Amino acid sequence: MNYEFVTQFIKQTFNTDQFIPLHEPRFIGNEKDYLNECIDSTFVSSVGKFVDQFEREFAHTVGAKYAIATVNGTAALHIALLLAGVQKDDEVITQPLTFIATANAISYIGATPVFVDVDLDTMGLSPLSLKCFLKQYCEIVEDRCINRINGKIIKACVPMHTFGHPCRIDEIKSICDEWHIALVEDAAESLGSYYKKKHTGTFGCVGAFSFNGNKIITSGGGGVIVTDDEILAKRAKHITTTAKIPHKWEYVHDEIGYNYRLPNLNAALLCAQLENLGKFLKNKQELASIYERFFADTSIAFIKEPQNAYSNYWLQSILLENREQRDEFLTYTNENGVMTRPIWTLMTKLEMFKECQHTNLSNALLLEDRIVNIPSSVRL
Ligand SMILES: *Cc1c(COP(=O)(O)O)cnc(C)c1O
Repeated sequence: MNYEFVTQFIKQTFNTDQFIPLHEPRFIGNEKDYLNECIDSTFVSSVGKFVDQFEREFAHTVGAKYAIATVNGTAALHIALLLAGVQKDDEVITQPLTFIATANAISYIGATPVFVDVDLDTMGLSPLSLKCFLKQYCEIVEDRCINRINGKIIKACVPMHTFGHPCRIDEIKSICDEWHIALVEDAAESLGSYYKKKHTGTFGCVGAFSFNGNKIITSGGGGVIVTDDEILAKRAKHITTTAKIPHKWEYVHDEIGYNYRLPNLNAALLCAQLENLGKFLKNKQELASIYERFFADTSIAFIKEPQNAYSNYWLQSILLENREQRDEFLTYTNENGVMTRPIWTLMTKLEMFKECQHTNLSNALLLEDRIVNIPSSVRL
């Protein structure tokens, strides 16, 4: 395979000879104005109009009733799992092919992840693998899903929409409903992605998004929880803001809460970023078509949005032939000014999660060896 040819094409596509990062943020709107407004008003921290404004606008964007901003996406996931009722010693099903935050958030509660395989086309949790696992190892006792291997309760399932490509979330939802398992979506990577015209993150009882520096829109760091349930929304706000009972001056907190609120400064940045989401999405779809046409004439496969889905194409990805070719490609491109990255190491290979129960992971293993992300920033 001629890697120079690919490298040259990417440079030409981004119209530069300089180093091309994997994903850069774009601040082309009202970011500076809104930040200045915060500074001039002195409301830079936990109180200010941009937090409320952002929560309203974000909920509207994804079609959820409520949105609660948090300090980052991991915190959003942590709280989302608590809202779903996950407790210490419960089990939570997720995919092994994900960013560490998914498994970490489960662990923060003292729950244990169980890993089921992904689908090859979506790179997200496979409904088939989920169903097989449940049929083989689980039973429903008094409306709870019990893992017969250890007697633990399987409380929730957390699929993730890998690189913005929606997984088969409607099938996953009906399996979860049948087995009395709460569905929590890790939509950290999929703002702007839809499955059958419904926004990702809004299928389960709660969804979590991230606004880390490398995501499709960013506030430096930030996250948000979405839900249609008013009680869960109120509880999310309460426990992310130290569980303080509102009062003019008294400090009374009614449970152990978290300091997970998003500062007004970051919310200001997000309000401006959200105004340009439509532009970013269109730009990324265009980049995907350019890549798709280019790679069609090569031995490298370009990963397209799955069927029935509209993808935000947050990170564009290609499938190489094997790990050896992947490593050659990574070495050549990174040494020649084009930043590329492999997909994550499977959670089941990490020290902390080695002992966790898992299904056959042949699809996840195949993708782990062969997927590479290529430059994906919004082109100016
Ligand atoms: C980015 C990301 C998160 C959250 O990350 P933060 O950096 O805490 O905002 C969670 N899950 C996945 C899959 C992610 O990519």
